[in-house]
Amino acid sequence: MSTVTITADEEFTGETPLLIVGAGAAGLCAALAAKEAGVDAVLIERDAVPAGSTALSAGLIPAAGTRFQRAKGIADSPQLFAADIQRKAKGEADGAVVDAVAQGAGMLIEWLADRYGLPFDVIDNFNYPGHSAMRMHGLPTRTGLELINRLRSAVEANDISILSERVAEVLLTKPDGLISGVEIVAADGTRERIGCEALILACNGYGGNPELVRRFIPEMADALYFGHPGNRGDAVIWGDALGAQLAYLGAYQGHGSLATPHNILITWAVIMQGGIQINRDGRRFCDESRGYSEQAADVLRQPGEIAWSVFDARIASVARQFEDFRVAERASAILTGRNVEDLADAMHIPATAFASEWTEVESLKATSGKDRFGRQFAPGQLCLAPLCAVKVTGALFHTQGGLSIDAVGRVRRRDGTSFSNLFAAGGAAAGVSGSSAAGYLSGNGLLTATVLGRLAGQAAAAQASR
Ligand SMILES: Cc1cc2nc3c(=O)[nH]c(=O)nc-3n(C[C@H](O)[C@H](O)[C@H](O)COP(=O)(O)OP(=O)(O)OC[C@H]3O[C@@H](n4cnc5c(N)ncnc54)[C@H](O)[C@@H]3O)c2cc1C
Repeated sequence: MSTVTITADEEFTGETPLLIVGAGAAGLCAALAAKEAGVDAVLIERDAVPAGSTALSAGLIPAAGTRFQRAKGIADSPQLFAADIQRKAKGEADGAVVDAVAQGAGMLIEWLADRYGLPFDVIDNFNYPGHSAMRMHGLPTRTGLELINRLRSAVEANDISILSERVAEVLLTKPDGLISGVEIVAADGTRERIGCEALILACNGYGGNPELVRRFIPEMADALYFGHPGNRGDAVIWGDALGAQLAYLGAYQGHGSLATPHNILITWAVIMQGGIQINRDGRRFCDESRGYSEQAADVLRQPGEIAWSVFDARIASVARQFEDFRVAERASAILTGRNVEDLADAMHIPATAFASEWTEVESLKATSGKDRFGRQFAPGQLCLAPLCAVKVTGALFHTQGGLSIDAVGRVRRRDGTSFSNLFAAGGAAAGVSGSSAAGYLSGNGLLTATVLGRLAGQAAAAQASR
C-alpha cells in the first residue's frame, strides 16, 4: 500500500543523489541521462528483470526530423509533429510539454542510436492514424521487449544500479514538504529507507489498479487490462497525498485490435492499409481510421464484445514485419478464405451482410470515396482475394492521466507551484493526449516515457548535484 510519511534524515539506511522508481523505458532513459550529467542514479524495480508495459509494447517511438527519416526522403518537423499531437488531443494537451516532447523526440532517437547503439529505423510502408508524416521509429523485431532489453543493457554497461525485486511503498518527505527518500520492501519483507536529493517517479499509471480504473475510467472498468500488472497507480496515490496536481485521469490508451481468445496484439497496419472491422452480425460500426485507442470502447460495445478485422494477403505481408502478427499466424488466429462467402463461413457470421459491407467498401476505394462514417478510402487500399480475418476485442493498454508536470518533468502542486526535487515521466505523469481515449495519438506512450524520461533525468541530476 503506497503512503507518504514525514521522516527525519537520520532514519535512512543508505543515501543516493537520485532515486528512480520504476525501470521501464522512462526510468532507464532517465538513469542514462543522469549518468551523462555526472549523477549516479539508483533504480528501484518491482520485478526481477525490468520489463514493465514497455516490454509488452511494439516499441515504436514517434520522432520528427531524424536522420532516419531524411535517409528515406521523409519530410517532417517538430512543429508538424506538435500540431498532430494537439489536433488528436483536441488542443487539450499542455502546450509546453507537447513542444518539449515534439522537439526532443528526434534528439532522443539519435541519442539512443549513436550513444547506446540502438539500431532504429523508421517504418515507411504504412502510416499510423493522425500522423502527417511517417515517423514511427522501431527496432528490428518491432518489439518493446527488444527496446527494454537494449536499454537495460546500456544501463548495466554504465554501472547504474537497479535494485530489483524491491517495491517502493512509502514516499518520505521532510517537514517542509521536500522529498527526502523512499521506503522499499524486498521480496522477503525486509524494509529499507533510502534517502535522496531528487526523486523521479517512473512507475507508470494505474491500469493495474482495478479500483482506480473503475473510479477514473468507468467505460473500461470491465475491460481486459493488457499492460503490466505491477503498475498500480502508486505515483497518483502518492501525488494526491502530497498535494500534487493530477490531470486527465479519464484519459487512456485503448486498443481495438487484440486477437481473442489468443490475447495477441494485431497491428493497426491491417486497418490503415485498407482493412475494416465488422461485428458478429457482419456489419461495420464506425470509422476505424480515427485510431485504435478510441476503437477499444467501440469494439466492446458490439455484440459479444468482439469484432473481426478483415484484410487481404498484401496487408498481411505488411503486418508480418511485427513479431506479434507472426505469432498470431502461428497460433492460427488469422483465418483465410478464397472469397467473402468462404471467409464468412469460417467466421460463422452472416455472409450476406458481410458481403454487402465488403462490396461497398471496395467500390469506395476504387473511387476514392468516403463512407457513411466519414472514413476516406483510396485506390491503393484495394483488397484482393484470398482474404484474411482475425477475431479481436478491445482492451485497456495504459492510463494516460497522472501527475501534472512542467516541460522537464517537475511535478506541480495543486496551488500551481512546483516541487523542486520531485519529477515524473512516462505513464506516471499526465500525458499529451488530453482528456479521453480519442486524444491518444499513436506512440504518445513511449514518446512521453523516453523523451520526458531523458529530460527529467537531466533536470533531476542538476537538482541533485546542487
Ligand atoms: C500491448 C501494448 C502495446 C503498446 N505499444 C506501444 C507502442 O508501440 N508505442 C508506444 O508509444 N506506446 C505503446 N504502448 C504504451 C507503452 O508501453 C507505455 O506507454 C510505456 O511503456 C510506459 O513506459 P513507463 O516507463 O512509463 O512504464 P513501464 O514500462 O510500465 O515501467 C514501469 C515500471 O515501474 C515498475 N513499478 C511500478 N510500481 C512500482 C513500485 N511501487 N516500486 C517499484 N517498481 C514499480 C513496474 O514494475 C515497471 O517495470 C503499448 C502498451 C501496451 C500494453
